[in-house]
Amino acid sequence: MRAALSLTPREVRLEERAEPVAGDDEVVCAVLACGVCASDVNEAYVARKLPRVIGHEIVGEVLAVGADVRHRKVGERVVVAHHVPCGECRRCRRGHETLCRGFRTSNVDPGGFAERIRVPGELVGELLPLDGLDPLAASFAEPLGCVLRALDRLALQGGESLLVVGAGSAGLLAIAAAHARAVEAVWVREPRAGRLERALALGAERHGDELVDAALVCAPGPRAIADAAAALAPGGTLCVYAVPDPGTPLPLDVHDLFTRELAVHASWGAGPADIRAAVALLRAGRVDPRPLVTHRLPLAETGRGLELTRRGETLKAVVEPWR
Ligand SMILES: [Zn+2]
Ligand SMILES: [Zn+2]
Repeated sequence: MRAALSLTPREVRLEERAEPVAGDDEVVCAVLACGVCASDVNEAYVARKLPRVIGHEIVGEVLAVGADVRHRKVGERVVVAHHVPCGECRRCRRGHETLCRGFRTSNVDPGGFAERIRVPGELVGELLPLDGLDPLAASFAEPLGCVLRALDRLALQGGESLLVVGAGSAGLLAIAAAHARAVEAVWVREPRAGRLERALALGAERHGDELVDAALVCAPGPRAIADAAAALAPGGTLCVYAVPDPGTPLPLDVHDLFTRELAVHASWGAGPADIRAAVALLRAGRVDPRPLVTHRLPLAETGRGLELTRRGETLKAVVEPWR
């Protein structure tokens, strides 16, 4: 089978690999779709993992199940989570499942940008059937789960207001999810006209100088964080979502933070509960992410998908290895 191996953050090589084989507690899937994530092209974030086959926003069709796998059948289409927390350690119990020491030790083999993958035993329990959901929409289960987790970190209640800074695919998903969760007013700051238009079409309003209860920073760089902080009402909360470069200072006046009791959170990744919540929203049709897909690419164009994402020329590129 073929896989797209990332040698460096900018260098991808299509290579032939041995067919994956399911061990007793494992499953082998054909990859139907795998989204390209902004984190896949963040050099500081991805370089330390390379060389490897990346891609973690995976939807597959079950091709083989091991002798001990009871709950999955050949032919079933599933969302594949790439990491799973232990659920028992102190970090898990405090709600930081994505920071669990066990979280990143599990992964699919070799990665989502491949024709077929082996799902190890510890991830098999997290395979979620699509139940008729379109695979392209289902490939947003992980990114939408990340956004839901960030909204949870902001502890947004219905009737409160949210500012989304940056209307790339994460920002747009956040706007759609906030509406699905009955956030009363959703504002957006986005310099690019096309993206702003999409945000407005999803029901966000263009932000001027309104004060908000919460802000989600979906654009990288200190400027976006400063803009978010400036828009917070007293007692407001911001959440850093886009991956900042190492060394990025927090551009806040701590005196202002103190006198206005501002809170700063960050949100990393998505745990199983977040991905389940995302699949429920997708299945119910309360968030339809398909209009965000600007590029559907065959496996051989994985490198191009990463490059276009790096240059900000996609909203969402999805690799479909069957193409
Ligand atoms: Zn992702
Ligand atoms: Zn844990």
